[in-house]
Order: sequence, then structure tokens, then C-alpha cells
Amino acid sequence: MKTNPIIRSVVELGGLFLPRVCGGCDRGLRQFEESLCSHCVADLPRTRFHDDPRNRVEELFRGKVHLASASAFLHFSRTGMVQRMLHRIKYHHDQQLAIDLGRRMAEDIKDSPRFQSVDVLLPVPLHPRKERIRGYNQSQLLVDGMRQVWPVDDHGKGLVRVVRTPSQTKRNRIDRWQNVKEAFHLPDEAPLKDRHVLIVDDVVTTGATLEGCVAVLRDVPGIRVSIYTAACA
Ligand SMILES: [Zn+2]
Repeated sequence: MKTNPIIRSVVELGGLFLPRVCGGCDRGLRQFEESLCSHCVADLPRTRFHDDPRNRVEELFRGKVHLASASAFLHFSRTGMVQRMLHRIKYHHDQQLAIDLGRRMAEDIKDSPRFQSVDVLLPVPLHPRKERIRGYNQSQLLVDGMRQVWPVDDHGKGLVRVVRTPSQTKRNRIDRWQNVKEAFHLPDEAPLKDRHVLIVDDVVTTGATLEGCVAVLRDVPGIRVSIYTAACA
């Protein structure tokens, strides 16, 4: 299904005239508030586990792929605030919310000793067709926001998604891994040589997609790979 670009522009233009609402709770925003109200900012369910090498995200990848470090900014909360934010970013075209969230993600992690040597950010790519329909890649917007407060490089188009990942629900883990591994391709490894690359995504659940990204990066000489997501389920 392809969204007509004219319809999409009208929908986006319509957004300019709608009252600004909080991405976490749908309440109206006051003038000084950005995309989240001050209550939601105060209640963000931060993981605060960036410095812990045995944190939940890192444990998810242990024994599967080699990583320097991994972490997530937020937990999925019982109140549903984080789900609402991510849903809004993906399906309601709230690109500003993604950029603001990215900025908060970077502020939260950039001083952690385990992530200080990161020097390039790599957003998980969407399949090009999906990106055309949506009009943007939400992981790239997170990276754009992160770079507003963290002076590191962006290797946005460095990793490409080559096949559409079929439904993964009924496959076993090996099949699934094989499947996502084939979904990414790194056309030019030179810019990532000897760098500490931070792969950025909106959410980590099983970790299969991120495993696929790490798998295509591991042969780059001297590379160190870490992972950081907006949320962990
Ligand atoms: Zn709110």
C-alpha cells in the first residue's frame, strides 16, 4: 500500500494547525514544553543501567554476537507512555518527538564510561519501500536528535536493507537469524574501519534485527560495535 505523497503532505500540513499535544499522555502542551509535557518528562521510565555490563539489553545478545556495550534509554512502562511515544513516532508522523527523544537519549548516555569512545552513529535502516511509504526512518531521526548534543559522526546511509523480512513468528531462532542476517548489506566498510560504532534503533525486543546488523559489521577491520535503543521491552 503506497501513501500518495500529496495526501501525505496534506496530512502533515494539517498537523500544523492541530493543538500541540504531549507525545506521552495526549494532554495539551504549554508553550515552553517541547514534545513531552513536564509530567511525562519527570516520569520517563529511564533504565539507568548504561554503566552495568550485565544489563538486560546486553544479556539479550550474550553468546550470540560480540558487542562492546549495549543499553536502552527507557523501559516499557506499565502506564503505556513509552508505547504511545513510539507509536506516535512511527504512525502519526511526529518527527519532532523522535528528534527530541533522540536528544534525551544522547544526554542520558554520552557521559557513560562504556560509551564515551563512540565516534559514529549508525541508525538501523528501514527497507527502502517502507521508508518511502512512511517518508522517514525513525531511527535516523533519533540519530539526528542525538547529534544535536553529541558531536559524533552519522553513517546514516552506510548500512542498507536488502530484502523485506518476512513474518518471523513461526520460524525458529536459527532460521530467523539467517533471515535477518541477509537483510542488511554494508556497501563500503572503509568509513567504519577502526571506529566505535553505536547502532541506534527505536526498540529492542528479541534483538533479531540488531543481531543482523551486527553480523554484517563484524568483518570490518578494527571495528567496535555497541547498541543503544530508545526502549527495551
Ligand atoms: Zn505528558
